Amino acid sequence: MHQCLITGTPTSDGCVTGTAVIYAAPLKPAVTAQTQAGCTVQDLERAVSETRAQLLEFQQNIKDRITESVTQIFAAHLMILEDPVFIGQIRKCIGDGADVPTAVRRIIDEYIAIFSKSPDLRTREKVDDLEDLMQRLLSNLTRPARPAAHSSLQGKILITPRLFPSDLLRFVSQNGEGIILTSGGVTAHISVLARSLAVPMILADAGRLADLPAGTPLLMDAHAGLIYARPDATVLSSYESLLETRGKPAQDRQAVKPQTRTRDGCRIRLLAAVGLVSEAKLARELCAEGIGLYRSEMAFLLREDLPSEDEQYAVYSRVLNEMQTGDAVFRTLDLGGDKLLHYFPAARESNPFLGLRGIRFTFQHHDIFRRQLRALLRAGHGRPLKIMFPFVSSVDSFVHARNLVWELTRELAAENRPHQASPEIGAMIELPCAIGLADELAAAADFLSIGSNDLVQYLLAVDRTNDQVAGWHVPWHPSVLRAIHTVTEAACRCGKPISICGDMASDPKLIPVLIGMGLRALTVPACRIPQVQQLIETLDAAEAKALSDQVLKSATVAEIAGLLGIPWTFPGG
Ligand code: PEP
Ligand code: MG
Repeated sequence: MHQCLITGTPTSDGCVTGTAVIYAAPLKPAVTAQTQAGCTVQDLERAVSETRAQLLEFQQNIKDRITESVTQIFAAHLMILEDPVFIGQIRKCIGDGADVPTAVRRIIDEYIAIFSKSPDLRTREKVDDLEDLMQRLLSNLTRPARPAAHSSLQGKILITPRLFPSDLLRFVSQNGEGIILTSGGVTAHISVLARSLAVPMILADAGRLADLPAGTPLLMDAHAGLIYARPDATVLSSYESLLETRGKPAQDRQAVKPQTRTRDGCRIRLLAAVGLVSEAKLARELCAEGIGLYRSEMAFLLREDLPSEDEQYAVYSRVLNEMQTGDAVFRTLDLGGDKLLHYFPAARESNPFLGLRGIRFTFQHHDIFRRQLRALLRAGHGRPLKIMFPFVSSVDSFVHARNLVWELTRELAAENRPHQASPEIGAMIELPCAIGLADELAAAADFLSIGSNDLVQYLLAVDRTNDQVAGWHVPWHPSVLRAIHTVTEAACRCGKPISICGDMASDPKLIPVLIGMGLRALTVPACRIPQVQQLIETLDAAEAKALSDQVLKSATVAEIAGLLGIPWTFPGG
């Protein structure tokens, strides 16, 4: 079979090689064991202790790499494995005449049957863990003893239609190389999380991947969105240096300057969008002037339970410590939509993106909101602290949330707890209803930040996670650009700082028009700072203004695409 090239949408940067592992279900280990008679009870004991060692190693691996992850992702496996009743049942089955692999299957199947009938969702979810455990045990049973890391996903590229945050964590803990997702969207939150975890990811059409059998050698260029199946020697050698650094140009860190200016000297602040402490560190190394968006829900999504106030305080303090000089904008929990906590009962919603999301969720769960705000205020003691609310739909909601912050500063003062007594409080502008209130929101808030991912989604009625409508997801749509302009003007009139923090802020085709409209602060994924800086240095602010004036007069997507040099075809056929 010859080399073939499949194009997809780049979702999380990086350049890696590996062999294809194909999953239709939640992530399971890349092993299938053949049943093998002739195993002894000693083999069972060895397999159990080897499986345990592997699981502990994976768990430690993820702990070392991700500060926020106190999640015991293999906790259920370990609990079952260490349960004397479980092992006792397998032994009894062997005593009754079954061979060892059959006994393992039979007992785990019995557990699966019981768990899958449970009325409790969390117990039902453990079925995947049980299947995973069975695969591991059988694999260890039918192979000679070997080092624990052997069943890792090193050298593997996962092809899967869907992925949960815990799957992604597992993938990272098992040292997988990259992921090809066959459904979803670039701005979907699983893609954002992949970027936070530095896992290369491409979104590609399932049909184009259907003919690839498991084990096919792949090269993923997740910067350009290219997948080479069975890459030949020429392709491999042309990617040699990029593969060595996993796609990150090695000189990035040295080349980046502490301040960014256009060719004609106009200052643009480059801030980082981060979801994890490790990214905050990268942001500092890449000279971000601050954190423009800390997505606080990421730490919640990577856990098995709600973090306590003290646990949150520890994470937020780490983020602030990493930034040292620059300031950090902490967005309060933005759950709902495609960000559900699997350990927290979610309301049944037929339109979750129009449901209990962002600030609405935290209003509904006041205790969670209070705990987070208290942790933030405590972490901000003695340093500048900015708190921002997502999904603000009215001045009323903003004021209500702001009053709660003020109430909690009084509460902490009464408790004599060190805290930040006057945080700056901002609003995200990401809902169409906030555009018409831009002046009033700018007056009420200390700063505004445009969340263009959701603004595009809601203004254009395009689900950001639905690849079937990806063609209608057009950030340069005249209504989107005019809305951004309206909000920018309102903030400037009011003398309030404004930035933009969705994916548009790092899009090379759109940066000129954003600067032309008057935006002077861009919040971009930390790893993209060097490229964005280089691009801005080639721009002229006056030319950018002329371009944006022209764009804002245009009424069609096609005309703006032409002005901005964006290849575009009408998605309606
Ligand atoms: C946005 O909506 O643009 C944004 C930055 O927030 P998120 O992508 O986390 O919804
Ligand atoms: Mg948003």
